Amino acid sequence: PYDVLVLGGGPAGASAAIYSARKGIRTGIVAERFGGQVLDTLGIENFISVKYTEGPKFAAHLEEHVRHYNVDIISSQRAKQLRKGDLVEVELENGAVLRSKALIIATGARWRTLGVPGEAELKNKGVAYCPHCDGPLFQDKHVAVIGGGNSGIEAAIDLAGIARHVTVLEFLPELKADDVLQKRLFSLANVTVLTNVETKEITGGDKVDGITYAERSSGEIKHIELDGVFVQIGLVPNTDWLGDVVERTRIGEIVVDNRGATNVPGVFAAGDCTNAPYKQIIISMGSGATAALGAFDYLIRT
Ligand code: FAD
Repeated sequence: PYDVLVLGGGPAGASAAIYSARKGIRTGIVAERFGGQVLDTLGIENFISVKYTEGPKFAAHLEEHVRHYNVDIISSQRAKQLRKGDLVEVELENGAVLRSKALIIATGARWRTLGVPGEAELKNKGVAYCPHCDGPLFQDKHVAVIGGGNSGIEAAIDLAGIARHVTVLEFLPELKADDVLQKRLFSLANVTVLTNVETKEITGGDKVDGITYAERSSGEIKHIELDGVFVQIGLVPNTDWLGDVVERTRIGEIVVDNRGATNVPGVFAAGDCTNAPYKQIIISMGSGATAALGAFDYLIRT
């Protein structure tokens, strides 16, 4: 068996694998897609100490760094089931079963998409999902935020400090965000809130030039010109395959303590698949390191 098996080849998984391998223990990593969400990212400007890089390049560096160590890499495979006996057993979709003394789950998350015309085509060309990452690209521009929950309203408040104008579009008749956030939002002069509207299309050629929506009460179709659209309708953790074995929150995030430990002894988790509050590359990497050190502590005590 492995001493530590890592599931996921994104920033959290890569970091966990490197920290484990550097302890000289038997380490494996199951990486369905090395790089994870980073592969879908264009410019990265907030990985501290690197002023600018691009997703695919960053992902290649992650993989190269992991390959520098003695890590068993099982690529293009997904985990489908977890069992805990004396050892942790992970069954892959191809039927293979991997055994390990400790497990670090780093299967990440995915942004929920609207699924309207223009969204996929204009991704990274004005359609964005992460205000901390891409907000500064829209300085003095007009942007829309789709989604009136906490993440949408936090994004709108954040973007209002950068962009010229922010228009919020919420499908339901009222915003769902906490009252304090709504109060703050409505105190801002450069924000417009549209409720009970359904986004129909994101328009543009080379880049986003507007958004088309329907007033749900009247069915009337409207179009506004703008430069960017932030889709904020939820981040879905890739944890469905876990079932009930490991404790998860209502939205499926794995509950971890400050050492990355879950409720199951020997099972740790890191990165966007956990209930850690902020989802960023640098944060995922930090939590991957934490989980690896947590797992090592566990191993030397058992
Ligand atoms: P992920 O990157 O999601 O990696 C998960 C890994 O697990 C992948 O390898 C995946 O293939 C694998 N996996 C999934 N399910 C399974 C399974 N069942 N079995 C085995 N493996 C599985 N953050 C920044 O800091 N700066 C930015 O500029 C930035 N821009 C972004 C732009 C976009 C478009 C997106 C989508 C995100 C951006 N982020 C940015 C966020 C950042 O990419 C994430 O916070 C980070 O990648 C999370 O790392 P992770 O390792 O936890 O998960």
